[in-house]
Amino acid sequence: MSTDDWRARLTALIEDYRSRPTDVSKDRYQRARDWQAELDDHGLAAPAWPRAVGGLDLALEDLLDYYRITSAAKVPSHPCPLSMILAPTLIAHGTAAQKDRFLTPLLRADELWCQGFSEPAAGSDLASLTTRAVRDGNDYVVTGQKIWTTQADRADWIFALVRTTPLEPGAKRSTAGISYLLIPMNSAGITVRPLRDISGAAHFAEVFFDEVRVPVSNRVGPEGEGWSIMRTSLGHERATAFLADEFRYRHTVDRVVALIVQRGLADDPMIRQQVAGLEIGVQSVAQNGARALAAVLRGQDPGAVASVNRLVKSEFEQCLHALALRATGAAGVLDSRAEGAFDGGRWTYGYLMSRATTIGAGTAEIQRNTIAEKVLGLPSSRGEGADESAADHRRAAAAAGEPMTVADDDERELRAVLAGVLKSAVDPAELLDRARAVDATDRELWSDLVGFGLPALHLPTAAGGGGADLRLLCAAVEECAKVLAPVPLLPAVIATTALHAARASEPVREMTSGSIIVCTTPPWHEMSPHPDASVPHWDGMTLRGEQPLVSGAPVADGFLVLARHDGGPVLVFADRRPESVSVRAQQALDRSSTIGTVVFDGTPATVVADGAQTIRVAARTRPIALLALGADSVGVAARALHLAVEWARQREQFGRAIGSFQAVSHRLADAAVAVEGARNQILGVAATISDSAGTDAIPAHHDPDLDCAVDLAVASAIDCAVTSTESCVQVLGGIGFTWEHPAHLLLRRARSNAVLAGGADALRDRAARHLLSTKR
Ligand SMILES: Cc1cc2nc3c(=O)[nH]c(=O)nc-3n(C[C@H](O)[C@H](O)[C@H](O)COP(=O)(O)OP(=O)(O)OC[C@H]3O[C@@H](n4cnc5c(N)ncnc54)[C@H](O)[C@@H]3O)c2cc1C
Repeated sequence: MSTDDWRARLTALIEDYRSRPTDVSKDRYQRARDWQAELDDHGLAAPAWPRAVGGLDLALEDLLDYYRITSAAKVPSHPCPLSMILAPTLIAHGTAAQKDRFLTPLLRADELWCQGFSEPAAGSDLASLTTRAVRDGNDYVVTGQKIWTTQADRADWIFALVRTTPLEPGAKRSTAGISYLLIPMNSAGITVRPLRDISGAAHFAEVFFDEVRVPVSNRVGPEGEGWSIMRTSLGHERATAFLADEFRYRHTVDRVVALIVQRGLADDPMIRQQVAGLEIGVQSVAQNGARALAAVLRGQDPGAVASVNRLVKSEFEQCLHALALRATGAAGVLDSRAEGAFDGGRWTYGYLMSRATTIGAGTAEIQRNTIAEKVLGLPSSRGEGADESAADHRRAAAAAGEPMTVADDDERELRAVLAGVLKSAVDPAELLDRARAVDATDRELWSDLVGFGLPALHLPTAAGGGGADLRLLCAAVEECAKVLAPVPLLPAVIATTALHAARASEPVREMTSGSIIVCTTPPWHEMSPHPDASVPHWDGMTLRGEQPLVSGAPVADGFLVLARHDGGPVLVFADRRPESVSVRAQQALDRSSTIGTVVFDGTPATVVADGAQTIRVAARTRPIALLALGADSVGVAARALHLAVEWARQREQFGRAIGSFQAVSHRLADAAVAVEGARNQILGVAATISDSAGTDAIPAHHDPDLDCAVDLAVASAIDCAVTSTESCVQVLGGIGFTWEHPAHLLLRRARSNAVLAGGADALRDRAARHLLSTKR
């Protein structure tokens, strides 16, 4: 069967399915099984599997589309998600006979599976499992107990970890000697005892094995290699099997936002912060999921990135349900099954069940351990693995703060080349020099960066720009921020964008030749149609007035000035002519930037935009200005994380590296998750803006949904920069509090960025107002 036309065939099958009445004689389970079989009959049930085993082998974009189509159509999902954990393991490690025997019934849900890993005394520490399997001829004889086994009462089979080589005398745990067995649940000697969970239902069970005979041919992979085989299972569980979550979460978030509006809570500013938090969560989940999948498709182990995803998802799901329960109001005192429970009790039930998300399939703390060790290269809190994985740890630590997955070639190359230029050009000791002038800037570095295409990298080549995607500009800004490049890049990016939006080509060309032009009032906020006396006055020929707190002013060669004219706004361009413009430089909180008050005293200037056009220019510039600021914040956060990780690996207290204390490692793991999430939101929105702008770099029309996404991404970036730099100071202890260490330079920049953008709370509030307004 051809797999190339899968989209048309899937859409047709779904349309046909939806046109049929629901068969109420069957339960939800049976309907899901039937649908699964139907998909398989049409060769459409396994989008990610290789073709050799009946899959569609879809590429990333197509795979995402597949899940988008099926979740939008709300067709039943596979009734046994655990099967999707076993399947990749069988595909990778199973014998031909096992694949033949198990994959099709698994896919069609003709056979249901459960996972027998946890034991009463082996939860997080699975390597302490004791269920034993003793070889007897062509069988293993299995004795022991599994617990919290989801769907054990319905399952036909269990994939279980058992100990085929006993532990050494005195040993309590070992990853060696464990085997992976496939065991029929109807085997003699198996007893299933249902366990009630937090909601009162029995979704999982205890499973007892009393001398259960299992053919040796049911072992997956070599004897004693079960641990590494299990890691394939968990890697996929954490990456691909739950890919569709993004679409499910989207749907649930929309329902919760609608619920908040319906319950009259949209005017509560605290609730609005939480609504924005949910949207940030769903955006991060979307970006992270796609990245983990991209890693899988490139044949990389998704383990580390997958742990990041799982942590984000599990905590996001809990916030989602806690907010929904809060929105139910007084009815929240009723149990989910009580008569009169709000919305049939679904939000109460959802809240209770969501507590499992940070426990099942690896607790949140274990995820943090994994991120700290595997992603950041910090030493294990359990004192394990230091020797055999020293090189891996060093490599991971060296990459701490870098993007976790490989970006495309353009971005990778841009980052590498720019990082090389910046490394040799920026000397942190100069920034720490107490005698450094308040108006110091590195003109040589600026001309190198201009040669590289900044600050107009994102503008069309016809306008003198670099013709690059906005995502690449953001990556470049991030790289410059990492080293705290002492140049006015951010103000210049904003000015070029605004000048381009106003079609003022001459000043843009000046900038691409090395001139520094800055906006006296960057468009962080929506502009009033009636500017007040806080901005300079334009009389038709000249400018008069003061503009305080202008970033980059002390080193600027020209100014793009928002002024008042006849009661309305006007945007004018003024060269910095010593006779009629003066700048009073002040010491900026961010030591790598300059700031000052600009005084115009009859300064000749030319009009760039007038009246409503001024407001349009500002609105078109604003998303790009904010994204550049967000990218800058991500760079600062990434560098702070890197410094803290380096220190946590080498600083010893109480005879151990401080990075082995979970108070330190979990804090850094959280910072890593936040940096990665913020970076990918920024880059994701930047790519969307470039797509919608076409050839002009800036979208022609104001798109409130895009503005909302920008606000949320930038709020995440600002917050992660502040927490990551504060964590850096904390992890460094006394040394972090000294002037000599550069941690405070990063903290200063992070805080300064937060102030410039008007605070993350304000961005979130504006975004939440938009989200709520769409549901009114
Ligand atoms: C809804 C649900 C479904 C499940 N389904 C299955 C299933 O189908 N099959 C299966 O095999 N298992 C299943 N489990 C079990 C699950 O995998 C375990 O509950 C989980 O691994 C945690 O183990 P534990 O319960 O023994 O907790 P413990 O490991 O005892 O942990 C208790 C607490 O101590 C913390 N902790 C433990 N070790 C560390 C450490 N090194 N560092 C920091 N903190 C630590 C944990 O984070 C947690 O907060 C399920 C669990 C739930 C809740």
